[in-house]
Amino acid sequence: MSETKYVYSFGGGSAEGRADMKNLLGGKGANLAEMANLGIPVPAGFTLTTEVCTYFYDHDRSYPSTLAADVDVAMIRIEKVMGMTFGDPTNPLLVSVRSGARSSMPGMMETVLNVGLCSATIPGLIAKTGNGRFVYDAYRRLIMMYSDVVMEKAAGIEPAEGQGIRQQLDRMLEQVKEEHGYASDADISEAHLKDLAERFKAKVREVLGKDFPDDPKEQLWGGIGAVFGSWNGRRAVAYRRIEGIPDDWGTAVNVQAMVFGNMGDTSATGVAFTRNPATGDNKFYGEWLPNAQGEDVVAGIRTPNPLNEATKNEQNQHLPSLETAMPEVYRQLHDIRDNLEQHYHDMQDIEFTIQDGRLWMLQTRIGKRTGTAALNMAMDMLSEGLIDARTAVLRVRPEQLDELLHPIVDPAAEQRSQPIAKGLPAGPGGAHGQIVFSADEAVKWAKAGKTVLLVREETNPEDVEGMRAAVGILTGRGGMTSHAALVARGWGKCCIVGAGTLDIDVVAKTIQVGGQTFGEGDVLTLNGTRGLVYAGELPMIDATENPRFVDFMALADEIRAMKVRTNAETPDDARQAIEFGAEGIGLFRTEHMFYGKGSEEPLFLLRKMIMADSLPERRASLDELFPYVKRDMKSTMEIMGGRPVTFRLLDPPLHEFVPQNEAERRELATALKVNLEELDRRAAELHELNPMMGHRGVRLGITFPEISEMQFRAVFEAAVELLQEGKPCFPEIMVPVTCAKAELDAQRKLAEKVHAEVCEKYGVDEIEHLYGTMIEIPRAALTADEIAKTTQFFSFGTNDLTQMTFGFSRDDIGSFLPDYLDSKILPVDPFQVLDRDSVGVLVKTGIEKGRSTRPKLKVGICGEHGGEPNSVEFCHMVGMDYVSCSPFRVPIARLAAAQAQIRHPRG
Ligand code: PEP
Ligand code: MG
Repeated sequence: MSETKYVYSFGGGSAEGRADMKNLLGGKGANLAEMANLGIPVPAGFTLTTEVCTYFYDHDRSYPSTLAADVDVAMIRIEKVMGMTFGDPTNPLLVSVRSGARSSMPGMMETVLNVGLCSATIPGLIAKTGNGRFVYDAYRRLIMMYSDVVMEKAAGIEPAEGQGIRQQLDRMLEQVKEEHGYASDADISEAHLKDLAERFKAKVREVLGKDFPDDPKEQLWGGIGAVFGSWNGRRAVAYRRIEGIPDDWGTAVNVQAMVFGNMGDTSATGVAFTRNPATGDNKFYGEWLPNAQGEDVVAGIRTPNPLNEATKNEQNQHLPSLETAMPEVYRQLHDIRDNLEQHYHDMQDIEFTIQDGRLWMLQTRIGKRTGTAALNMAMDMLSEGLIDARTAVLRVRPEQLDELLHPIVDPAAEQRSQPIAKGLPAGPGGAHGQIVFSADEAVKWAKAGKTVLLVREETNPEDVEGMRAAVGILTGRGGMTSHAALVARGWGKCCIVGAGTLDIDVVAKTIQVGGQTFGEGDVLTLNGTRGLVYAGELPMIDATENPRFVDFMALADEIRAMKVRTNAETPDDARQAIEFGAEGIGLFRTEHMFYGKGSEEPLFLLRKMIMADSLPERRASLDELFPYVKRDMKSTMEIMGGRPVTFRLLDPPLHEFVPQNEAERRELATALKVNLEELDRRAAELHELNPMMGHRGVRLGITFPEISEMQFRAVFEAAVELLQEGKPCFPEIMVPVTCAKAELDAQRKLAEKVHAEVCEKYGVDEIEHLYGTMIEIPRAALTADEIAKTTQFFSFGTNDLTQMTFGFSRDDIGSFLPDYLDSKILPVDPFQVLDRDSVGVLVKTGIEKGRSTRPKLKVGICGEHGGEPNSVEFCHMVGMDYVSCSPFRVPIARLAAAQAQIRHPRG
């Protein structure tokens, strides 16, 4: 018999599990156990472990043989603690069945509440509570949920849009309300609820061809199976893809005694954050509904009440807060809030229910938060002494910094505009785009390259893919704690929920508001930080820096071991990068000087040089080009003010620089004093079948040494002139696409010759500089010990190195990469996240070999991976001196480097 323990009990002041058992018990189960151990009131229950889930999927959806008996024992424990019995006709216990994965997946899996209500237990519960209305309300909810989750979804039935059993039953409910003039669910009479429950059961039989089960045990196991089954439901799978959660983790299932927030006016239910998850403010923040079940708050159907007076907003200020409605319970909840923060040292997201004036905690977990909130909370908790500096640095995910650096709606433009609606500011920043009304459309339009806002009536976790594809989300109903708000916030995505004045019709695809109508494809602008919706497109500006951003980054900078440089070749980029904290330029792509505005003239000269047919012709063009190259190098070094600048020799696939249009070709032919046919003949000679592996990089300098010479001269003259003007600078010369030491020897000899000439011309002994190479060809990594004899630094060009290692063309990967990702042949795009198993091995080998012959070899990276947190961590672990990335990613790399040092300290 297996010794594995599959069931863990909690409640009554103790538990078998603990908070650190998340892998086994899931987040919810582990934290329920922890709360029970802390003496916080938690309804008793038990957790079926994630191992049961793994077993379930490995064994054709069946359970370990011991499970049924273990569940029986655990059920008896709940009954003892709660003083009620499951299925008992006089004193019946009802339970909830909920999912709980290791990492929170809000709303992505299923839940069944009120399990245990049946013809045998209903009379007993009515007698006990004296509240028949409540009992029939609970019963109709059970039928709705169970038929939807267990009998339809888990059975793999996929009804047509709007024809799901849940929607059909919902329509019956609405009809009763309409017929009898009930304003809300809470007004429906006992008799009508009772009648509705009977009609619901008939409908279930008619639609699904099966009876709704009347046996509590059957309900329980149906619920358990459905929750395990929902791990592989469509939206859960989609969410895991996006969040990178492995499929084999599995979910736990929590079975827990029901407590009721819908037993009358002394009952309530709510969701809260121990601090504001949008701003980070140290204020207890949440929402509650009197006389309701938990699903009512998170489903976003009613606009909930504010938790306290301090956090009321425009939407809910007319509604009573829990603080005033139930002051004693609020005080107790507030104490629990303090207790949980002190215990977990982090912001918690909690769920609670008040049954007949008695408070029960249903969940606590680390709360999702915006980047701004993450940063503010980290700094607050540091000054409160709740956490230390290292913990504070770990509290912000590097990607979250993006939010602080990315655009918001221009406040000046907002001043001039009248919002068409106001909702709750659920996700930060600004966004504008064309509106679409379904998740599928959002995905489709985004794939077609359009920028879309997803508009929905209410927040629905089934929309997760569309939410991801959209730049912003707008809903008419729902609160700050609704699932969509949680998910959007977790992604740092602009989101407004509960914009109640909008009349959204997703079938007609229209929004009506204040006499205006907006249809699919119309443009709106959202200010997710303030909850404001505008018609049309308002301009965006960069977010002004959070004043605490600087302090936070200073903490990170104190810790990190690697330097962070930027890839830049224009003065503007260089300036921006310095503002973001760049400590040098790790890659100045000389050929980029010839792209873009203002570069028509040098581009023309470059083309002329490329099309030259003889050495004298080429030299003449190079002489003309020289002043432009020198000018840009000089101004960039000047802005960098003594920080190192790595100039890379020209690395253009030549064909990119052959003009395509006839007028340009004619102009070029005239300048070269040849006819068009001759120019075309020369262009045809440059044509290559595999330009990425063709005549580029150092190969150009080997064939045409005069091209390298011009660049060496530009670097040295720019540097010496700056130095003579009293401006510090430090150039580094970098050779690209190297595969052999001999290439570097040849280029170095040239560089030394030019260096001597420039020294003589300017009357100096030496111009301080470094000579190095990119390592971007596998052969270079594998012969790095030889290469390091000639060069003083390596910079890993992991774009080309990935291309060469995978044999994937950088330029053509778009046609097949999505298939590779969808079918999970590759977990991620290797051009975004460095593949440690292959490219990583080459990098590691290159560094080890290089330092074996030159122990002080300086090593960095300048491929796109230099700004991607996971790759930055790898660079740290293999001992690089610096990473270099685009200006906007510099702060991300700084933080990622600090976190890498905390997780993997190096001397
Ligand atoms: C690289 O290959 O990683 C690199 C930085 O060079 P480029 O992208 O210019 O080829
Ligand atoms: Mg390259």
